[in-house]
Amino acid sequence: MTQVYLPRTLAELWSYLEGKPEALVYAGGTDLLVKMRTGKVTAAPALICLERLAEIRDVRETADAIRIGAAATHAELLRHPLILTHLPVLTQALHTLGSPLIRNMGTIGGNICTASPAGDTLPPLYILRAEVELCNGETIRIMTIEEFITGPGATQLQKGELLTGVLLKKPVEYNFHHFEKVGQRKSMACAVASMAALLRLSPAGVIEAARLSWGSVGPTVVTAAVVEDALIGEKLSLETLAAAAGKIKQIVAPIDDVRATAEYRRSVSGNLLLRLLDARPPS
Ligand SMILES: Cc1cc2nc3c(=O)[nH]c(=O)nc-3n(C[C@H](O)[C@H](O)[C@H](O)COP(=O)(O)OP(=O)(O)OC[C@H]3O[C@@H](n4cnc5c(N)ncnc54)[C@H](O)[C@@H]3O)c2cc1C
Repeated sequence: MTQVYLPRTLAELWSYLEGKPEALVYAGGTDLLVKMRTGKVTAAPALICLERLAEIRDVRETADAIRIGAAATHAELLRHPLILTHLPVLTQALHTLGSPLIRNMGTIGGNICTASPAGDTLPPLYILRAEVELCNGETIRIMTIEEFITGPGATQLQKGELLTGVLLKKPVEYNFHHFEKVGQRKSMACAVASMAALLRLSPAGVIEAARLSWGSVGPTVVTAAVVEDALIGEKLSLETLAAAAGKIKQIVAPIDDVRATAEYRRSVSGNLLLRLLDARPPS
């Protein structure tokens, strides 16, 4: 029978992990427990749940940065004033993730460690240049999310290591945050393709800075400096976006699967860029 441990402090967690090195860690369990039930992950003799670890569940602020505890749930982040104020692009993505039940259980750390190309928090975290904080009880490693996620379902997380926090600089230089996801239906659907954008628009509507990323159209989140560069200095117009859309369609590397064909995903990647026109803030 599987034993489940519910540590209340990180000190307790490290001592459980030392005693049960074969234990699997989970937070909300909305990915891991599903995979265990369907046999995609072999059941472990022990599970360690992160749910009660207040130390890695809070959101903190410094003058120019925000630290999100890895065990913060999506629902907690959705109603957190610091996230609402400083990271609207993440809030928009969280609104589309799963259902209220999934958002109450699932965590940002679980979404990152699952490293699915369709993980909804990932496109925003890439353009926010998020860093992940990894700890094994003795040492702390910090790396960018781009370095951390190495492929579909693959990360640099080492045995005995925990993702403890997500570190973000406040994106003060951007005045237009946007996330959009296309799925087979409005909710409870994995992304067929998604796009996150941070733009700085001048009062005349010229794009002065741009960061863009796409989900579900490659083995990991796709970023494209060439598309960002094509936008900078141009007016946010249909012509500008259509030209950039043509470029991203050449760059993404989607696959055919049960949700959509690669060709459809390629086309949606470009169309999501065009949607920036409707989503732009009123001038
Ligand atoms: C019905 C349903 C709908 C869903 N819809 C969506 C959706 O629309 N969009 C989306 O992106 N996802 C969706 N998911 C997937 C899932 O809910 C999310 O990925 C969620 O964020 C996972 O978080 P969790 O805390 O439940 O992860 P868990 O299942 O607890 O863990 C997932 C993996 O991460 C590891 N892990 C978790 N936390 C840590 C940590 N702090 N340190 C180290 N390792 C850790 C675990 O060991 C495990 O391997 C859905 C799932 C279900 C069941």
